[in-house]
Parts: sequence; C-alpha cells; structure tokens
Amino acid sequence: MNILILGSGGREHALAWAVMQNPKCDKLIVAPGNAGIEMIAECASFDINDGAAVVGFVEENAIDFVIIGPEAPLAAGVADDLRAAGVLTFGPSKAAAQLEASKAFTKEICDASGAPTAGYARFTEAAPAKDYIRAQGAPIVVKADGLAAGKGVIVAMDEQAALDAIDDMFGGEFGAAGAEVVIEEFMEGEEASWFILCDGENVLPIGTAQDHKRVGDGDTGPNTGGMGAYSPAPVMSDSVIQKAMDEIVKPTVVEMAKRGMPYQGVLYAGFMIKDGQPRLVEYNCRFGDPECQVLMMRLGAQVLDLLLATAEGRLDQAQVNWADDHAITVVMAANGYPGAYAKGSEIKGLGGLPEDSKNMVFHAGTALKDGVIVAVGGRVLNVTARGESLKEARDRAYAMIEGIEWPGGFNRTDIGWRAL
Ligand code: ATP
Repeated sequence: MNILILGSGGREHALAWAVMQNPKCDKLIVAPGNAGIEMIAECASFDINDGAAVVGFVEENAIDFVIIGPEAPLAAGVADDLRAAGVLTFGPSKAAAQLEASKAFTKEICDASGAPTAGYARFTEAAPAKDYIRAQGAPIVVKADGLAAGKGVIVAMDEQAALDAIDDMFGGEFGAAGAEVVIEEFMEGEEASWFILCDGENVLPIGTAQDHKRVGDGDTGPNTGGMGAYSPAPVMSDSVIQKAMDEIVKPTVVEMAKRGMPYQGVLYAGFMIKDGQPRLVEYNCRFGDPECQVLMMRLGAQVLDLLLATAEGRLDQAQVNWADDHAITVVMAANGYPGAYAKGSEIKGLGGLPEDSKNMVFHAGTALKDGVIVAVGGRVLNVTARGESLKEARDRAYAMIEGIEWPGGFNRTDIGWRAL
C-alpha cells in the first residue's frame, strides 16, 4: 500500500523507519520530512495543517493510508477531512483531539468518568483566578487552556509566581490559548507516560516511557521539548498499569464514545504516580517526541499492522509481539537550545554509525545542504538504541554519540538515570 506520514520531527523519522520495514508498505511519502527521512522515503512539501491540501495530495498520489504525526493538523481537523474523503487515517478527529487541545475539556472528561487527577478550577478573568490562588496557596499549577507548545504550564512553587503567570496568560502571552486558565492542585510523585492505541472502542497498550524535560544533567535548567527518553518505565508496574487502565484510560474512552466523539488514534497519557496510585497529568493525542523513537525501536515493523488495526476499528483482534527489551534515545540539540541557537552548523560522522534494529539515529531539525547534513532546528538528532537491559541500550547510544562530530551541538550525559 501507499502510505503518507505527516510531520517532520524525530517522531516521524522513527515512524517512517518502522513502517518501511513492513512488507505491506509499497511506497512511503513523508510531508514535509527532514534530511534523515529523505534518506529512506520520498519527501513532499505542502501545508499539512490544511485539510483540503492534504486530501488533494492524497488523491493525486493514490495514497491508501495516512498517519498523522503532530498535534497541529489533528487540532485543525485534518483527520476529519481525510475521513470525509474516504481516506483510511490514523489520528483522532478534531473533537476527540480536544483531549490535548483543551485542558479544561480533559478535566471535564475526568469529572464525568471519575478518573483520578489534580483538583482544579477554571477561570476566564484574572481577579477571581488570583483570589483562588491566594486562597489555595503554593505550590500550585497554572495552565493556559489551549495548545502552547508545552510552554503554557507554570508549576509555581510560590504564590507570586502563580499570580505573575495569571497576568502573563490574561495579558495575552499565549494568545487565544490563554483566554481560559486552569488552576490545578500541585501533585507530587514520579511522572511516566503510557501509549495506548484506541479504535474508538477497543484499546491496546503499546508501551510505557519516561522522558527528560530539563535541558541539563541532573534535571537542571529550563524545560525543553524533551532531551531523551527510555522505555519501559519501571515506575509503571503491573499494578499501576492495571489501575491506570481501569480507573483512567478505559473510562476516558467510554466517556468519549458516549459524547459522540470516539477516540481513534494513539492516546498518550501522562501520569503522576505516588504510593502506587496513578493520577492523570495530561493527555496528548499523538505520539510523544522523543518517546515515539524508543517505542518504534522496540516495536519495529509490526507498528504498521497496529496502526492499520486502529484505523480500521479492529484492535480487538490485534496484539503486540513483545520482546523483553529496553530502548533509549538521547537528544542532541543545538548549542543555546532551548534559548536562541545558531542554524547551519555541519554534522559529521553519521555515515560511519551502525543502522540496524539496535542502533538508529533519527533526525529532527536537520537539512541536507550541498551534500552535507546541517542543523536547522533546536532539537536535531535522536540517537536511539535497544538492548537486553537499559544499561546495554544506554551504553550503545552513548557509543554512537562518540562517533558524531558536531561542535555546534550538545546532549545530556545522564539519560536513563532514574531507572538505572
Ligand atoms: P507538554 O506539551 O510539555 O507535555 P503541556 O503543555 O501539555 O506539556 P502538562 O503536561 O499538563 O502540559 O504539564 C507540563 C508539566 O508540568 C508536566 O509534565 C508536569 O511535570 C508538570 N505538571 C503539570 N500539572 C501538574 C500538577 N498538577 N502537579 C504537578 N506537576 C504538574
């Protein structure tokens, strides 16, 4: 079959790498793609957030199946446009993607389904929001309702920081995403993510992971899009997984179907776990980046069968063939990230690295310029490895990094520390 993947990050390179290994894939096109994806698939350029443009491309190129990577096209309703045109699509409808696009919506779903999560209140004006913060005290969490690329959440350790966050959000710092604010109880515990395929009715978990949000070793410095990840996450024990499924994930899927917005795609659930009890932090309606890279490394070619079963509504007949393995990905980012960084520095040494089922460098912000790979983004490479133990996977990933010559970039040296 002919397959189109939308997106341009390390997530999409990993998806493309796994999908291509499946004999069902005759042709793969990725839009817009990046330099790493260009080496394994055709890349195309059009506006992936414009439903009409995506449908037009699909029809012109006889595409049989579309996999939507990032949240923006989902929130823009591209999956709805594709399905309306009769195209088999992996990814939730615009209505179902509210689980990521609106934090207030997700809180409503938790209330209706009884899923354990942080206590909260919603506000559309600054004065009552500030009164609420003063009454609750710190620590407290202030969130812009809408999509803000991970920057719309302030975990305020003192009251003043929370009050300042209210001024910023209602002052327009996040545009329309901050028109409503959710203020949450601060939850203590250890965070982990779980990825569950849903076909509207049936669910199939495909792995747990933990990421590393802070830029520096020892979880120091500012937040980023993620500096590395590993799978599985030891904190997601069998009993935590059972509780998360029974108390949070299944009730969510049932509630969404009841509201006439069945969830179809991957549900990325972020939990805070304390004393063996998971509570929901957030849902995302797509694979995490960089968590996707470790999931794809572990699942390999079967991913295409699983995504097809999701899109075709037959997850009840699907199963995951698990290996008892571990995967890790270490992000290499441009010097200065997550602040200002230079573009255009050359990356050498990638050609000499192994590329197989245990070692892969997935590209994110790269481009091919005059035959050389250059960095064009903040997060640039995802050095990913698999092993029988997390330590083996980690050693393999860091050995690959030794072979990469890129003075313009850096990486954390302690990815996986919590589990190791
Ligand atoms: P991202 O896109 O980066 O995942 P987001 O904008 O969707 O982030 P959340 O995941 O809701 O936002 O929050 C970001 C981070 O803030 C969480 O990963 C968690 O570390 C912290 N956080 C959020 N809510 C709470 C809470 N109630 N208590 C403690 N920490 C929280």
